[in-house]
Amino acid sequence: MSDDCLFCKITAGEIPATIVREDPTALAFEDVNPQAPLHVLVIPRRHIATLNDLTDADEALVGHLVGMARDIARERGLDSRGYRTVFNCNTDGGQTVFHIHLHLLGGRSLTWPPG
Ligand code: AMP
Ligand code: ZN
Repeated sequence: MSDDCLFCKITAGEIPATIVREDPTALAFEDVNPQAPLHVLVIPRRHIATLNDLTDADEALVGHLVGMARDIARERGLDSRGYRTVFNCNTDGGQTVFHIHLHLLGGRSLTWPPG
């Protein structure tokens, strides 16, 4: 838990969020400013600031986040039509909240490359 971290406060229940799925390792909730009909953020409960802070010991954790995103997409019926998962990192990546989060976007045709 990092005291000044918005997403740690969400995991602690101190800031409200619309929870989509949760387990002892991870939490998925609706993005407050959705960029697609489905826009969910999947985060580890443990505070990790950026992708740069991941270690080899976090391989299973990252797999777990991706698996949670897959399960949500499947549950929403988006698996065959498709969806996008994104981790933004630092300034050029557009990261604004420094607790890693996997964006899950779907429900519309997404363009590429992103802006
Ligand atoms: P990023 O720019 O990759 O760091 O993404 C941060 C995301 O967090 C953005 O899509 C924001 O809309 C979202 N966000 C910020 N505050 C909240 C909040 N309180 N609850 C849910 N999503 C949030
Ligand atoms: Zn945090």
